[in-house]
Amino acid sequence: MICLTGDTHHDTLDTNEQLWLRQQGHSVSEVEVSVEYVRLCEQYRIKCTLYVTGRTLADQWALFQPIAAAAICEVAGHTFEAFPRPAAERQKAMQHGNVATSHAGTHGSYKEQDEDVARMCRIASERLGTSIVSWRNHGFVHDGNTNEILYAHGIRYVSDDLNWEKYHPERLESGLISHPVNVIMDHDHIYHAHRTPTYVKKQRENWSFTTESTSESFTVDRWGEMVMDQVARIARAGGVATVLAHPICMYTADRFATFERLLQQFAGYKNIHACDVGQYVPKEN
Ligand SMILES: [Zn+2]
Ligand SMILES: [Zn+2]
Repeated sequence: MICLTGDTHHDTLDTNEQLWLRQQGHSVSEVEVSVEYVRLCEQYRIKCTLYVTGRTLADQWALFQPIAAAAICEVAGHTFEAFPRPAAERQKAMQHGNVATSHAGTHGSYKEQDEDVARMCRIASERLGTSIVSWRNHGFVHDGNTNEILYAHGIRYVSDDLNWEKYHPERLESGLISHPVNVIMDHDHIYHAHRTPTYVKKQRENWSFTTESTSESFTVDRWGEMVMDQVARIARAGGVATVLAHPICMYTADRFATFERLLQQFAGYKNIHACDVGQYVPKEN
């Protein structure tokens, strides 16, 4: 079983990929790139779940609308604002060959997080005409309050855990069902956009776990092979393989060439939306 997921951010967030694309003279919107991603999923009949920021729905609704209208795609929450950090600061860091942290590492207080989740859920209901039930935090940033807040706002499925060993979704104390990203995710493991080998080498200097395989980066081709190995292993064990392939990362890496190859191979497996993972929680759980 495959649960294909991706995250979509508003263009005013100025993520490192967005800045990089503009530096290359490309004016494409991350939302347009996401539309293309969903079209490819339609072509290969692979369901996907896109976690989108509330600001995208609020400010870029006309561009986003085709995604909302596509049955193949479940639209889910990715915080409203995604903890923006000043773009100028990051641009300067990157120009000097330094690592630029793309987002803040905290939601702030309980109240601030509660308000952000409420805004996300509200704009989703307004725009989509239905409530969102699935969630992933931007940058997987979560704290001791997150799950309780999400549950109180009607969220039921969360994918904030990165764990290659957990093959099955699990029910959390908060009542949420968690389906960990258990397949090597794209962004932190592939060379693409600003993540050149030199940049990644620099980035790793700040990491404490560089001896582990979870800290390595690969070409997008190699990454694609690793994804399929992990997916096959999880499927053999009867688990749910939650794949994270971001539209903007897949686009900047090789204009969706690897992504399309993955979709072709995914077609050999059953696939579900994040909102369907509940039925795959093992009984003893
Ligand atoms: Zn994100
Ligand atoms: Zn990326």
